Formats: sequence, structure tokens, C-alpha cells
Amino acid sequence: MVGTMTELPIDRRRPAPPRRPAEDAARETALAGRATNLAAAFGATGVAQRLAGLCQTVQGRIVFTTSFGLEDQVLTHFIATARLPVEIVTLDTGRLFPEVYALWEETERRYGIVIRPFYPRHEAIELFVRQNGINGFYGSRDARKSCCDIRKVEPLGRALAGADIWITGLRADQSSARGGVALAEADPQRGLVKFNPLLDWTRDAALAFAKAEEIPLNPLHDKGFVSIGCQPCTRAIAPGEPERAGRWWWEDDAAKECGLHVGADGRLVPSKALAPAEA
Ligand code: SF4
Repeated sequence: MVGTMTELPIDRRRPAPPRRPAEDAARETALAGRATNLAAAFGATGVAQRLAGLCQTVQGRIVFTTSFGLEDQVLTHFIATARLPVEIVTLDTGRLFPEVYALWEETERRYGIVIRPFYPRHEAIELFVRQNGINGFYGSRDARKSCCDIRKVEPLGRALAGADIWITGLRADQSSARGGVALAEADPQRGLVKFNPLLDWTRDAALAFAKAEEIPLNPLHDKGFVSIGCQPCTRAIAPGEPERAGRWWWEDDAAKECGLHVGADGRLVPSKALAPAEA
């Protein structure tokens, strides 16, 4: 008998069976192995070689998330000038500095690329603002984390869905919490490997490279804004202050991550593989 228009085949109505612990463990082991191999293969090479080698080695989707900071602009330069098959994406939280939007446009024009934007779910923001106020993230750590979850973490999940590799602009010396970051590390929660080609660069080295290559930069960097995120949650820092002191400055240093590089327990995703130079 032919079903009605509202009926679905029975198998489509069933939720996917939960994965078994053994499958998860095997998956994590495989990811850790990939990270170890990538770190071993490219740990001793330069950034251009790391990126080119990564693209030659990996068959799947490679995504680079940029927030248009110094390090991200350097990586965009490497990726765009070499025409590497890397998707460049950004998360527009809706609370960015006007200078970021101007730099976004300038970067696309300079390199002839399109940077794919991901936006928060409007229903979630509307509910958050109704419940907490337009600047409710100042009210408590929980409110701040909720805002970051809605505006950054959830869109990041969509940006990285199906990706094999996530390229980031992390440097090991950006903060005490980031000191354990490796060149390549497994991210079992997202089912991918994070690749941090600028891991062993200093900020001064990135700045010198950007100046030499005339890479477009955010003018706020010259006004004491080192790590630039959302406008209401970023301030300039004084000489000698830690780089990330200007982010969520009303919170403890140990917790200054927006959730993009932390696990579900709130800690940085641990390094699964060390580059040879770091071992
Ligand atoms: S940085 Fe501030 S404004 Fe941006 S998502 Fe986090 S709490 Fe919200």
C-alpha cells in the first residue's frame, strides 16, 4: 500500500545508533597517529613547506579559520600566494571592530580570494540578548561563555563539519595556556587534526614578515591591540603585559579562551604529538 505524503521511510525516522566506545577509541588512535606523522614530517620545515606538504599529503577537506589577526594574515598570505587548496573561512560574531570588516574586504581584494563567512544562529542570539541584555557577557563567566558558544563555537562547528584538517594561527608563546600546543594535534571531539604552522614563530618574526611582504594588517595592532577579538571584549595592552591580557580582561588569565581551542571540560585541547624540535 502506498504511504501518505507525510510518512517517511521507516529507516529515516530512526536515530543513528550511538557509537561504541571501541569505535571511538580506534578513531582517536587513528587521529593521534595522523597528527604524529604530520608533526614528524613537517616539524623541521618552514611554514610554506609545511602548508604545501600538508596539502599534498591530505586528501580531505582542509579549512583555515581566520580572524584577521597578525598571524592569520600571515597564513592567508602563504595560502593565497601559493594557491593552495585550503578553504579560508571566518566567523562573523556580529560584534567585531569596524577595522576588521575593512581588513576583511582589503584582504579579499589584495589576494583575489573569497573568505567564506559563518554567522551565529539568529534565534540563539535573540534569546541570549533577551535573557542577558545586549552586553550581558560582562555579567558573569557563564554568560560570557554562552555568548562565545553562540557567536563562535557553534558556527565554528558548522565551518569545520566534514573537515579533515583545521589550520590555525596559534603560536606556542601567546600565553601560558597555549604553551603546550603542538604543530599537529588530534582533536577527537571534532574528528580532525589541528595544524598550527606558525607554532614556533614569535610575534616579532610574524610582524617582520608581514611588513616585508606588505601584508595588510589591522591598524589597531599599532594602537596596542595585540590579540583582537570582539570589540566589547578586547582592549589595548600596555608594554610588557601578556599578549592575551587584552581579551576578557575582567577574567582570570587561566580561563582566557573563547572555546574555539578548548575541549568540553574547558581546558585547552591537549597536544597529542610534539614536533621533533620540541620533543
Ligand atoms: S568575545 Fe565577547 S562579544 Fe564576542 S562572542 Fe565572546 S563574549 Fe560575545
